[in-house]
Amino acid sequence: MIYLDYNASAPLRPCALEAMTAVFQKTGNPASGHAFGRCLRQVVDQARAQIAEAIQATPQQIIFTSGGTEGNNLAINGLKARVSQVFVGATEHDSVYSLEENMHLIPVNTQGLIEAATLDKCLEKASPPFLVSIMLANNETGVIQDLPPLVQQVQARGGIFHTDAVQALGKIAVDFKALGVDLMTLSAHKIGGPASIGALVVKESVPLSPLLKGGGQERGLRSGTLSVALATGFAQALLEAEAQRKEGTWHQNQHWHQWMENRLKDASPHTIVFGEKAPRLPNTTCVTMPDISHETQLMAFDLAGIGVSAGAACSSGKVKASPVLTQMGFPLEIAQTALRISSGWHTVEDEITQFVEVWKRISMKGKSLS
Ligand code: PLP
Repeated sequence: MIYLDYNASAPLRPCALEAMTAVFQKTGNPASGHAFGRCLRQVVDQARAQIAEAIQATPQQIIFTSGGTEGNNLAINGLKARVSQVFVGATEHDSVYSLEENMHLIPVNTQGLIEAATLDKCLEKASPPFLVSIMLANNETGVIQDLPPLVQQVQARGGIFHTDAVQALGKIAVDFKALGVDLMTLSAHKIGGPASIGALVVKESVPLSPLLKGGGQERGLRSGTLSVALATGFAQALLEAEAQRKEGTWHQNQHWHQWMENRLKDASPHTIVFGEKAPRLPNTTCVTMPDISHETQLMAFDLAGIGVSAGAACSSGKVKASPVLTQMGFPLEIAQTALRISSGWHTVEDEITQFVEVWKRISMKGKSLS
């Protein structure tokens, strides 16, 4: 079995499992004043400080959430009453489109990038304070936005800037201070931490309102008893991911993806690598297999023991054409033949070589499979 769907969820890192197992055995609630509570509080404080240090934020700026979906919902819905308008990138994760009205799309170019002139045009009639949400790296294409100039543009006009950095974390440098954003969403399971934990990083000046009312945990912004074990797993996974990133381990993944993309383009002149000319994550390739629907491709890869994904899979497991690709200007027929291959910390070269062989076999059988 070959797993090449890290952008959906990465395998749990042993260091995270080990650290969580120890914490799961502890008793108590980190908010309690007695010794049991204090002990857990110390563990949480440590995890919070480790995460903050890794992304150049302060511990007070880290609000633990149940993951990226909640982080994005909290950022957008927690500000909607305080802002005049909400502007969001056209290729964001579904969880960013959590408002039904008053949302304006910021178009992307054919490479999936938001251009300064386009953003400027969108903001022409915006009255401050308004909110802009643009992701740092796209989950389907891996395209990385050059955020700092866009952030400056927005803040100069009196806007608040949120970024979804869920897919960027651990793969490229994610520096809260250098990006200059006001809010940033993170999730642990994309970097080899546990699912159901993440964080919204929030500057103290942001007038965010909570979505959940209750015990007032997390500076009153996210009530509910925190899972200390999950927070610890998140921190350990991030420490390891960052250490490996700094050692340069992604260079090999990037090299494998480049090699793979070249082989797939050699195999068919009609192969398209989406966002090919834009800066991209070192682990992500989104590519067409000309004339073969992604449903057929996924089944064929699954039969061959390879787990990959189409651009977007909904919770029912059904495959739908990717709005990300259609927003980039590709026709539906092309978007319906796209496949996402995403590697990670446990991938080995041979898995990429085998994937390419199977891709060629499926591609050769062509329409007889459809
Ligand atoms: N944002 C992006 C870019 C994602 O890729 C995902 C997960 O697919 C999410 C948000 C949601 O994160 P979570 O699964 O932690 O809710």
